Amino acid sequence: MTRPVLVVSDLATWFHTRDGVVKAVDGVDLEIGREEIVTVVGESGSGKSVTALSVMRLIQEPGRIERGSIVFDGTDLLTLGEAEMRSVRGTRIAMIFQNPYASLHPSFRIGDQMTEPLVLRGTERAEAVRRSAEMLERIGIEDPSRVMRGFAYEVSAGICQRVMLAMALMSDPELLIADEPTTNLDAIAQVQILDLIREMRGETRMSVLLITHDFGVVSKMADRVVVMYAGRQVESGGAGAVLGEPRHPYTVGLIESVPRPGHAAERLRQIAGEVPDVIRLPAGCSFRPRCPQAMESCGEAPPVVPVGAGHVARCWLYAPRRAA
Ligand code: SF4
Repeated sequence: MTRPVLVVSDLATWFHTRDGVVKAVDGVDLEIGREEIVTVVGESGSGKSVTALSVMRLIQEPGRIERGSIVFDGTDLLTLGEAEMRSVRGTRIAMIFQNPYASLHPSFRIGDQMTEPLVLRGTERAEAVRRSAEMLERIGIEDPSRVMRGFAYEVSAGICQRVMLAMALMSDPELLIADEPTTNLDAIAQVQILDLIREMRGETRMSVLLITHDFGVVSKMADRVVVMYAGRQVESGGAGAVLGEPRHPYTVGLIESVPRPGHAAERLRQIAGEVPDVIRLPAGCSFRPRCPQAMESCGEAPPVVPVGAGHVARCWLYAPRRAA
């Protein structure tokens, strides 16, 4: 068996605010194999984006990685100095964000923003232009020269996200982190970007950590799924197991709130209540105030329990002696 590309163990990233300590991520474990797509899914505030930013070591004050390890290709990224980390970021690990307009500078031509990182790494400018145009063409942009001459505000969000993806892929990363890459796109552009990520995964043999709140995206993309709630992982496993036989009541609720194809008129169930304030989490299971199956033992922190092959849930329902 080949060594996983990324192994995150017991990651805790907290924000020390005036109102208290926000435990945005508190004890997350995840593993990504070569060419695997792992999706991290949860509602807004679940800690999924902070997990991604922690892997990139892009957490800013008052945030801090408090504990854990992030082992990428055998090296714990938390032991690297900033200069060493810069040589990993954008080359061996690339990231694309939800809002591509915010990632591209409005005053510089798209082409210059694409070629500059290559030139800084020693590529001749003419070669950098050629490679940028070639990558844009490869990901389906019909007139790369026109896009490269333009500015971010002159192109659609879909084109902008493709440019970001092209920039990420030009460094031939071993790991692509995509944080809600389709959230601001129309339905057609969403499908195109997801298809592209899958295709490029196959072509370049990269692994993908995909952050999303959308179970439609999970079912289209994931090999494995990690479900997060209030900074913790509540369920994880193979995509078939988690989607086909979800065990944690939160995962069940998320899946039931997704419209099924061909059932447009169906009344969807929504999870009652809201994600709790992570400064003041309820004692015991943090999902307890919203959980239709809560019971007495849920006042204590639930254990992580195996519920199938490579499939675990953090829930008292599957710890038989306590659930009795
Ligand atoms: Fe619900 Fe209890 Fe399981 Fe939490 S531990 S999800 S409250 S049943």
